[in-house]
Amino acid sequence: MEKKNIDWSNLGFGYMETDYRYVSNFKNGAWDEGALITDANITMSECACVLQYAQTIFEGLKAYTTEDGHIVCFRPDLNASRLADSAKRLEMPVFPEDKFVDAVKQVVKANASYVPPFGSGATLYLRPYMFGSNAVIGVKPATEYQFRVFATPVGPYFKGGAKPITIRVSDFDRAAPNGTGHIKAGLNYAMSLHAIVSAHEEGYDENMYLDPQTRTKVEETGGANFLFVTKDGKVVTPKSNSILPSITRRSLVYVAKEYLGLEVEEREVYLDELKDFAECGLCGTAAVISPVGKVVDHGKEICFPSGMEEMGPITKKLYETLTGIQMGKIEAPEGWIVTIE
Ligand SMILES: *Cc1c(COP(=O)(O)O)cnc(C)c1O
Repeated sequence: MEKKNIDWSNLGFGYMETDYRYVSNFKNGAWDEGALITDANITMSECACVLQYAQTIFEGLKAYTTEDGHIVCFRPDLNASRLADSAKRLEMPVFPEDKFVDAVKQVVKANASYVPPFGSGATLYLRPYMFGSNAVIGVKPATEYQFRVFATPVGPYFKGGAKPITIRVSDFDRAAPNGTGHIKAGLNYAMSLHAIVSAHEEGYDENMYLDPQTRTKVEETGGANFLFVTKDGKVVTPKSNSILPSITRRSLVYVAKEYLGLEVEEREVYLDELKDFAECGLCGTAAVISPVGKVVDHGKEICFPSGMEEMGPITKKLYETLTGIQMGKIEAPEGWIVTIE
């Protein structure tokens, strides 16, 4: 298959229209067959529930080329089950999990000419999502839905090495204690836009959100979970029911325990213990781990001993092991790598 003429190593993280996307519609209580289509645009009612009341959820995962030339994706079954959890919380119908994985495979296969070659650092980003599509004006869930998956090639997250970032403790909250922080809903992002724009204006890369009830515990950033490393080499990750369960973080916890023999604690992490950690990283599909060098809490700087030049040693080991598993250089646990072709 011939690849598109794209400068893979200079791609950014932006949308580029590709040839095919998958669409399935839910109507009269059932999902239709679903199909690949070429039209990238959507036409719907001006009063669609998604437009008026933000009834929309999404997922994000990547397809990429391994060293031996296969196109694969990473744990898509976990994206399928997380989308199902998100759907239930927003009173949307569940898209069958096996059909989700099949839809992802179909989209990757149909857009294989857009899958970046091995070694470019670029990947094919996949965006499955679902929204309420019929007209709703009195507040209630839609009765018609559309599930779609599109693909867009994206560049390497770190161009020229992973430089540690600086984040601030945010005065804005991301998720209410019994709200929707644990699901991947567009609404969680809408309310984070002001916080991220103001963080950037003040020179910070990201926001660290605290638990809104006590403002003493670390939750996550707008789109990534935290991993910390203690001075004696233990991996610590915050536990809270308003954190989005990152697939990358869950995979890194497994890698830490089973591949690297590290002790892992999933527990509440207090803001005032940050100064005791040796390393800090943000985990998510986009970067796998971005190292954090500094946290600023209202003028008070907390600098991790790993510094502002490179990833801490344990963060780096975690990063290299997981990316090695993803790229087919290190044997993967059963079911983690799904080969598409
Ligand atoms: C998607 C997301 C993450 C990262 O999850 P992955 O499955 O690792 O990509 C973390 N936090 C939030 C709020 C997210 O929406």
